Amino acid sequence: MSRLEPVTAMASRLLAPNPGPMTLTGTNTWVLRAPGSDECVVVDPGPIEDGHLDDVVALGPIALVILTHGHFDHAECAPQLHELTGAAVVARDPELCIGAEPVSDQPGRSSVAGVDWLTVLTPGHSSDSLSLLLEPDRALLTGDTVLGTGTAVIAHPDGELAAYLDSLQRLRDIAATEVSVVLPGHGPVVEHPVEVLDYYLAHRQQRLEQVRAAVAAGDTTAEEVVRRVYADVDESLWPYAESSVRAQLDYLQIHG
Ligand SMILES: [Zn+2]
Repeated sequence: MSRLEPVTAMASRLLAPNPGPMTLTGTNTWVLRAPGSDECVVVDPGPIEDGHLDDVVALGPIALVILTHGHFDHAECAPQLHELTGAAVVARDPELCIGAEPVSDQPGRSSVAGVDWLTVLTPGHSSDSLSLLLEPDRALLTGDTVLGTGTAVIAHPDGELAAYLDSLQRLRDIAATEVSVVLPGHGPVVEHPVEVLDYYLAHRQQRLEQVRAAVAAGDTTAEEVVRRVYADVDESLWPYAESSVRAQLDYLQIHG
């Protein structure tokens, strides 16, 4: 268990061995454990590959598995983890839940195995995205809504820009008073939550202006817009940018 890296009093990171252009250094599996407790809560157990599932099982008794959203790189090993440990799996999407009710429309505070958190619905990256405020640590677990480096992709058509902007603003409001650190789904810990959320909000507005200008200049397809607006981004990331552009084009159609 040498890969388990303590980050706050209650949260440790187990980095999954799935680095890539969208997963950065890999998926962060977050392990929440109250001081002195045998049991832990696992957030985003991650991919099965290369022994990651075995390492999660080896954490000891798992009281609950929480998914920040259903994307494969966060949720793949949840069913097998349930089979191996009996731990219930809770998510926003009922199809992903095993032995637990899905997170409701109006989630609140929860306490499991001495770990206390507030669940916040943060759709946008995906429709089922949620974030968790780990209360004693004032640590905010954001899944793919806020990443450790760069900015997040909107996984269109399931993900939507209007919802994403609302979610960022909701997290910004919480961060202003209650958050000392962001524990993202990928990349390093974010030490300045308010600054980063302000940057995310400004970046989305800036991209939206650029997409609006590209459409005004005659671009008609997402591919054309990406070529113009994402000229500053490595070409290998353009397929992902296209997903965000489609979400922005949808947004402009509705909101102008
Ligand atoms: Zn995702």
